[in-house]
Amino acid sequence: MPDAALDFAGNDYLGLALEPRVREAAADGARRFGAGATASHLVSGHLSVHETLEQKLAEWLGRERALVFSTGYMANLGVIQALADRSTALFQDRLNHASLLDGAALAGARSRRFHHRDTADLERLLARSEAALKLVISDGVFSMDGDVADVTELAAVARRHEGLLMIDDAHGIGVLGDTGGGCTEGTSPTEVPLLVGTFGKALGTGGAFVAGDASLIDHIAQFARSYVYTTAQPPAVTAATLEALKIVRDEPERRARLADNIALFRREAASLDLPLSDATTPIQPLTLGDEARTLRWAARLDACGVAVGAIRPPTVPDGQARLRITLSARHARADIERLLEGLARCRQEDTPCATA
Ligand SMILES: *Cc1c(COP(=O)(O)O)cnc(C)c1O
Repeated sequence: MPDAALDFAGNDYLGLALEPRVREAAADGARRFGAGATASHLVSGHLSVHETLEQKLAEWLGRERALVFSTGYMANLGVIQALADRSTALFQDRLNHASLLDGAALAGARSRRFHHRDTADLERLLARSEAALKLVISDGVFSMDGDVADVTELAAVARRHEGLLMIDDAHGIGVLGDTGGGCTEGTSPTEVPLLVGTFGKALGTGGAFVAGDASLIDHIAQFARSYVYTTAQPPAVTAATLEALKIVRDEPERRARLADNIALFRREAASLDLPLSDATTPIQPLTLGDEARTLRWAARLDACGVAVGAIRPPTVPDGQARLRITLSARHARADIERLLEGLARCRQEDTPCATA
């Protein structure tokens, strides 16, 4: 992607990665706490800035305790490995993020995959299970499709079968809900006992958390190997995340701007007869099916100065290659119009871009 390209591929949904206050908080965090944490959390790397972020997250999300991990990938590996073993039954949505499947592999537990967003299929699988621990796991907002899990229904099904529900809301945190609390905003810890979110998307920084009841989170802090055996997150990143969290909570107008941009894109894309999905989140896939065509469209957009994701198997199922277009509060109307103009040219296939 050329530097000057308009970015419709990243996950900076609220424009916080480039926000001056967040960058300044990073610099200030480094000045106050040092360039690195110098040790793991359980030794001496757990600094006051980590503690403050965990407390603010727990309070925001209505959970007793939150635990900060260095990345979302590590959070998912650690949470699943800390709770599951070979005798645990895991139930995962077919389209769950790779890190959730890798966590199951690390725990040595078998994942049963239910049809995408199909709680009846999940219920059938749960009813057949005799396992002592049944862990039900779903993405909140699905990363390649932009659709949202039915958390209330998942919670009800999990509860009927004494399953423990874990939601990975990497793409929902900061974006969905009145306070940006994500797709589980307003749920209780009884409904969603394990809530994972990441900072590398809407919060614009990096890292992740798991939130829930204190006893459950304490257990994870002691047994998640990706938490115990790694150096704590650099404090600059944690300090930047604290500032980003404050902005997420204090500036709902960013979510309103994002919603306007999504609506504008969907309205105009529909009038161009593009293969829009039903997703109403910032992730707007255009499923073209054919890999070569997907690459051709992405290259043509690139020549128009617009960067989008060209997603192919195995990241998505065979025959479902797509452009993954992401919208942000930071996009101006003119940016979205440039994207649409590029897409209109793609639609006419071989028309060269006038501005190339
Ligand atoms: C991005 C993502 C992750 C991984 O988070 P990182 O902080 O990038 O490691 C986990 N789960 C989902 C659903 C994601 O989209």
